[in-house]
Amino acid sequence: MTAAVIDGKAFAATLRARVGELATAFEAKAGRKAGLAVVLVGEDPASQVYVRSKGKSTVEAGMNSFEHKLPADTSEADLLATVEQLNADPAVDGILVQLPLPRHIDEQKVIAAINPDKDVDGFHVTNAGRLAVGQPGFVPCTPLGCSMLLKDKLGDLSGLDAVVIGRSNIVGKPMAQLLIAESCTVTVAHSRTKNLADVVRRADIVVAAVGRPEMVKGDWIKPGATVIDVGINRVPGAEEGKTRLVGDVDYASAATVASAITPVPGGVGPMTIAVLLRNALVAAYRNEGLDLAADAV
Ligand code: NDP
Repeated sequence: MTAAVIDGKAFAATLRARVGELATAFEAKAGRKAGLAVVLVGEDPASQVYVRSKGKSTVEAGMNSFEHKLPADTSEADLLATVEQLNADPAVDGILVQLPLPRHIDEQKVIAAINPDKDVDGFHVTNAGRLAVGQPGFVPCTPLGCSMLLKDKLGDLSGLDAVVIGRSNIVGKPMAQLLIAESCTVTVAHSRTKNLADVVRRADIVVAAVGRPEMVKGDWIKPGATVIDVGINRVPGAEEGKTRLVGDVDYASAATVASAITPVPGGVGPMTIAVLLRNALVAAYRNEGLDLAADAV
């Protein structure tokens, strides 16, 4: 069997186009553009690339992008004051503080300071709680993107056995919650899990969010399963001095057993920014008290 490739890049492009249409409709109704504020502290090169790309995508989707670049030695109090100012600004619908923050700043304290109704990353405990009890809130972008890809590929997920490898607050745990909400039977595996290969072999759906290059092998996968690879790992490339990106799944062997699989790159990665834009748009509609159908985007 050769697995179908789940094209996250194409899905993300369609999602972004839809967000763009709804952002135009929002502007007509609200008399202003939806706005997403991104706060970057320091000069971490990877974070700078992410922030630039988020800003560009926000503008392309017809929303305002407010970038706040603060020096690396910004105090925690000053960062909290910036968050407060954005909380109070009616032009700002969504707030994203780029992580990781410099070590002298307590990340949890900063996330806790964001108004949950502007927390488009879905990291605030209020949003984690809303997800756990099934109330509307904001769900972290990467797992929500994975869930969209799964539903697009498989339709109804109810009754399927799902194994999520990884239990981080930003990927593994919210992914498990989303799959429970879709009526899957969910197992969450992590570094202490015994006989991981056997656990994974039970699954109709495997979501790998581990951060270990090509750890999940083809002979761990149940024939016909659907595999979502969240991992982004940079490893040495074929040419000296060059690197390449691989996932947490050994794609070559898994693709001979699975029925469908996300590639790396071009699978889950492009979904993350598309879902961020989607969350910002939803925040704008909610903040203005405007109706947006649950399945609109
Ligand atoms: P974390 O490091 O926060 O969590 C990794 C999880 O994997 C932990 O729960 C850990 O278990 C578990 N784990 C580690 N080693 C093993 C092992 N040998 N066997 C089983 N489980 C193991 O990572 P994140 O959740 O933030 O990210 C996971 C991956 O996803 C990374 O590759 C990251 O780059 C990628 N990522 C991709 C995104 C995208 O946009 N596509 C966005 C976010 C992340 P324990 O809890 O016991 O330590």
